[in-house]
Amino acid sequence: MILLENGPFKLLFTDKTLSLSWKTDEPEKVKENWLRVKRLLGIPQLKIAYLSQVHASTIKTVTDYGFQGWGDGLISSEEGIALVIFTADCIPILFYEEDSQLFGALHCGWKPLASGLIENLLEKVRLSGINPKKLKIYLGPGINSCCYQVGKDLAEQFKGYERFFTARNGSLYCHLKGIIKEKLKRQTERIYDINICTKCSGHYFSHRKGDRERQIGLIVKLPK
Ligand SMILES: [Zn+2]
Repeated sequence: MILLENGPFKLLFTDKTLSLSWKTDEPEKVKENWLRVKRLLGIPQLKIAYLSQVHASTIKTVTDYGFQGWGDGLISSEEGIALVIFTADCIPILFYEEDSQLFGALHCGWKPLASGLIENLLEKVRLSGINPKKLKIYLGPGINSCCYQVGKDLAEQFKGYERFFTARNGSLYCHLKGIIKEKLKRQTERIYDINICTKCSGHYFSHRKGDRERQIGLIVKLPK
């Protein structure tokens, strides 16, 4: 479990000690585990905003809690609403900007990455009148290049990013976080990579390992 506190922001990446998806996990356990998340954050009345994640590039602007529709990113400046992303190998990305207090969460597997999720984020930030340089971005636990075996068809989606694909023992491996960082770095240097592989670390749910449960990436701005 990784809990970071910076000013009014709390950022949380859970691990496999807490299954948290209503969609795939055991309902009684999930209910109990969400209470544990609330205790962990010290927010008993935690309100959350979440998506039906569809591996695309839509980012929703959140003004109220609850279901936000279909998409793979949430962005907000509302106090007291936690933005939540569910993952098991895809990369959870949390970010905030201190002056405007804009913050958000992304669910980034190869499909959102190939279809412009990062570019959409940077565009949305710029349109809000914020210089993306000022963003602080955290890449949470996800599948690393040690375990992310892919096909040639996937590599072909990333023209110009060939150096993030490595051949080993006749297989091709993708450094997904490398591509994310490369895309972000054109705009901002303040990127913090929690360098943990969900598949081989043993402490996280991994879709590729056969887990159906999900962990979360969560960011909330505390009320003043
Ligand atoms: Zn690994």
